[in-house]
Amino acid sequence: MAIKHLEEYRDPQISRKLVEHLKVVSQNPIRLMEVCGTHTTSIFRSGIRGLLPPTIALLSGPGCPVCVTAQNEIDTFITLSRIDDVIVTTFGDLMRVPGTNSSLQQERAYGSDIRVVYSTFDALEIAKKNPLKKIIFLGVGFETTAPTIAASIRTAVEMKLDNYFVFCAHKLLPPALAFLMEAKTTNIDGFILPGHVSVIIGLKAYLPFFEQYQVPCVVAGFEPVDILQAIFMLAEQIENNNPDIANGYQRAVTYDGNIKAQKVMDDVFEAIDASWRGIGKISKSGLKIRKEFASFDAEEMFDVRISETEDPKGCACGEILTGQKIPTDCLLYKMACTPETPVGPCMVSSEGTCATYYRYHAT
Ligand code: SF4
Repeated sequence: MAIKHLEEYRDPQISRKLVEHLKVVSQNPIRLMEVCGTHTTSIFRSGIRGLLPPTIALLSGPGCPVCVTAQNEIDTFITLSRIDDVIVTTFGDLMRVPGTNSSLQQERAYGSDIRVVYSTFDALEIAKKNPLKKIIFLGVGFETTAPTIAASIRTAVEMKLDNYFVFCAHKLLPPALAFLMEAKTTNIDGFILPGHVSVIIGLKAYLPFFEQYQVPCVVAGFEPVDILQAIFMLAEQIENNNPDIANGYQRAVTYDGNIKAQKVMDDVFEAIDASWRGIGKISKSGLKIRKEFASFDAEEMFDVRISETEDPKGCACGEILTGQKIPTDCLLYKMACTPETPVGPCMVSSEGTCATYYRYHAT
């Protein structure tokens, strides 16, 4: 179906047609995972789940940046914020994520200097204006945000700033897909791949994964028609037993991706094994600042990483992030855990599955 203009991606008539086609194509039960938190939110907001034939189940995956940040990383951020001459800068979603005994929001109330910024340039400005302070930017997220944070380190070099540091807790998406296939804890028949990560890494970044596992994959945009189209493409591949890796978001995603962004990321970061919340260590799924830029690496310069912590008791974030459970399976959901009193990060982030269920789910 050729779609030319943005408004057509929200057109109810096109959506209806796609749903009708889906009902014809989808004959056998299938389980599709939307990896990205933005997709989860779009799916709930637009009511897509209610339109699908009963053969299609959608699972939410590990694609919310705050949700996959490990508990020990949150505790480390809190410890960093308690150092006297430090100003911690962060994107807003991290503020309310509970650590073992506190949160950044609580630490700010106790007097730590923690500032919410909208970009790394704000953090660089704070560093420039406060030469006697040490400014630490908390780098969380996927390939979408990693290039701008890498670029901020390069800018700090150009600006000759010696008081700007990044704590790098970035995660990489393709290794997480491989982990899900290897773990076999959830049967996944196809993946709706994230649009914005794919803008950076391009379709080619998924090829090794696809070649190894031969599981249907479609990159999707975030409008209702984008998502329905991706589901239709996946259902067709599965029904025809013709797995493929397809680009359903051609207006934004190319085969090669954003080469400049990839280059700055590669210049500044290297891949390392990383721990994901509730999941554990995944090989080569995280980023570390390269030795050449070690003087900007908060982990090297402050030596405060907390290695072992336990996830909150009773919180099922790990199982939810891997599609083994849904929020209503968690005994704390809507009881001890609400957006006002979050127990786990999946209830904090605007893209967290638990928060999305809470906002849009009827029960
Ligand atoms: Fe964790 Fe709360 Fe979600 Fe349960 S409802 S899994 S406690 S975030």
